Amino acid sequence: MTRRILVTSALPYANGAIHLGHLVEYIQTDIWVRFQKMRGHECWYACADDTHGTPIMLRAEKEGITPEQLIARVWHEHKRDFDGFLIGFDHYGSTNSEETRDYARDIYARLKAAGLIEVRAIEQFYDPVKAMFLPDRFIKGECPKCHAKDQYGDACEVCGAAYQPTELIEPYSAVSGVAPVRKTSDHYFFRLSDPRCGAFLREWTQPPRVQEEAGNKLREWLEAGLTDWDISRDAPYFGFEIPDAPGKYFYVWLDAPIGYLGSFHSLAAREGLDFEAYWNAARAAAEGTEVYHFIGKDILYFHALFWPAMLRYAGYRTPSGVFCHGFLTVNGQKMSKSRGTFITAESYLRHLNPEWLRYYYAAKLGSSLEDIDLNLDDFVARVNSDLVGKYVNIASRSAGFIAKRYDGRLGDVPEADTPLPAMQAAAGTIATHYEAREYGKALREVMALADLANQYVDLHKPWEMAKQAGRERELHAVCTVALNAFRLLTLYLKPVLPRLANEVEAFLNVPPLAWQDAERLLTDHVIQPYRHLMTRVDPKAIEAMLGENRESLAPPPAPVRHGEHQQHAAAVETPSAPTPPTARAGLISIDDFARVDLRVARIVQAEQVEGADKLLRLTLDIGEETPRLVFAGIKSAYEPEELVGRLTVMVANLAPRKMKFGLSEGMVLAASDERGGPYLLAPDSGAQPGMRIK
Ligand SMILES: [Zn+2]
Repeated sequence: MTRRILVTSALPYANGAIHLGHLVEYIQTDIWVRFQKMRGHECWYACADDTHGTPIMLRAEKEGITPEQLIARVWHEHKRDFDGFLIGFDHYGSTNSEETRDYARDIYARLKAAGLIEVRAIEQFYDPVKAMFLPDRFIKGECPKCHAKDQYGDACEVCGAAYQPTELIEPYSAVSGVAPVRKTSDHYFFRLSDPRCGAFLREWTQPPRVQEEAGNKLREWLEAGLTDWDISRDAPYFGFEIPDAPGKYFYVWLDAPIGYLGSFHSLAAREGLDFEAYWNAARAAAEGTEVYHFIGKDILYFHALFWPAMLRYAGYRTPSGVFCHGFLTVNGQKMSKSRGTFITAESYLRHLNPEWLRYYYAAKLGSSLEDIDLNLDDFVARVNSDLVGKYVNIASRSAGFIAKRYDGRLGDVPEADTPLPAMQAAAGTIATHYEAREYGKALREVMALADLANQYVDLHKPWEMAKQAGRERELHAVCTVALNAFRLLTLYLKPVLPRLANEVEAFLNVPPLAWQDAERLLTDHVIQPYRHLMTRVDPKAIEAMLGENRESLAPPPAPVRHGEHQQHAAAVETPSAPTPPTARAGLISIDDFARVDLRVARIVQAEQVEGADKLLRLTLDIGEETPRLVFAGIKSAYEPEELVGRLTVMVANLAPRKMKFGLSEGMVLAASDERGGPYLLAPDSGAQPGMRIK
């Protein structure tokens, strides 16, 4: 039976770069989704940037741009990194969308009608200079327990004590530096303490809906008693205003999970899917659709208590399962900026192959909440031994003979004495492991099969057969068996190594491999010439990556944190002062060049700028949700009309610049000297908006 499944990963906050800690979850989810698709199920993967809240508002203000501009830029960076790691979202949206706003309002209205919203006056710290209430993380002061200075309002980083911001000694606002005052304001609460919620959640938080370990934790919280949840914040706030409460906004954590609905809505509209069949409680139950959330263990409370209770009493379906994973450590320790192990996705991709990390994480991942460790020496050893030494090697040892001696045509497979029946029979076990998110177990099975295949090749020694007269048929059969073994291994590894699998499909000249293709073998079939599929990891590349993460340190950033909303929490050491890389005058390294994010852009609009002699205002599509506005000094050479529709090249990661006529969000490239110009650069035909130039 074809299952209908919606899968989500937690929404990354639009306030920082994707790093290898985040990627544990996206890679874990992506493997599961690709596996379900290979099984022939209808499986959709939706995610979005989480864009609201005080940290975004303050950071945008600091950069002199609007929050919308900030989140558009970060969306593009996140999407680029996810694409780089082959995370195959069916839709990647933003919580700052009409869809998410509409669902937030709907859920709020229904909870209110159910008697689960209450208004209460509470007293909080208020910054009289900035005229805003201060989230806990924006209040600092002396720890009431150990008297360490400059600690956050919710917890001390020196002694680990947790407390209320009002307990801090000599508190001050981290935004303006002044002493905060206490001020009372009305807040909206979701009444999680209502007996209905408790009764529902005690029943709901049972395995297999949550893992055993997560269930135990949740029952601890339930037994300790649930408290009402403050879901509003006062203006100024970047978010959705509460419909019947001017000046009050939904707290970012209310609309963040609702972003799953908003993103799926956009996907459903694009693909012609029935949204209600997935999210209306009655329809979902009748149609048997499934919804799974992959999350980090730090946000279990939100996803397994607040979220199902909100959905349940708003008439929406509740998730079929919440799958929780642990944190990432690197070389057995928390990720550290000073050691260079706080590795951004972008820097990894500059030095290393994304499928190496996908494989390594998968080999370490199980269904538990345990942390996983990226041991960099082990990473090199395992990738080189498993992927290159065992797997790719099978093809590279046999493909040449097929090309040279048999016109690229596979022959027949002998009836007996080959590893193929055992390899085919393993499809069921491996599938069971993938389904249960026991990827480590699945890959151990696959590598055991690779060992069988290598033993077969070692036993028959095709390279010796090739030198002996009269063994042509035997050689043909052995190489055909080896390449069939390689095809089966590729099929089993495809959820983890999708790009490599595509290359193998092209090499074997077969359509995309699905799980049921394990039932048949490839005989009397013409394949393509073999090209090298994967190189070994060079430890020097790892050193270069760590060095870059050490070097790229900026001075300690202002404490723009998201407080309790931090996902995939990774403690960060205070960075030391940056050491400028020494370079020969005039020369830059490839890394320096790679820092410039050059993109193909389509000019969707070009306009004169009133009062400007040299500038045209260009609206550029670079594959982002919102187009960029750029002021370009090309008026002397171009009429606006002739530019519309053209492709050009833009610098996409240039800091936005406030100009007299408005904000310029990038730069287009043009050539000129005393002989003339400017001449706008243009890519060859076939280039598409958003493509990276490198
Ligand atoms: Zn302390």
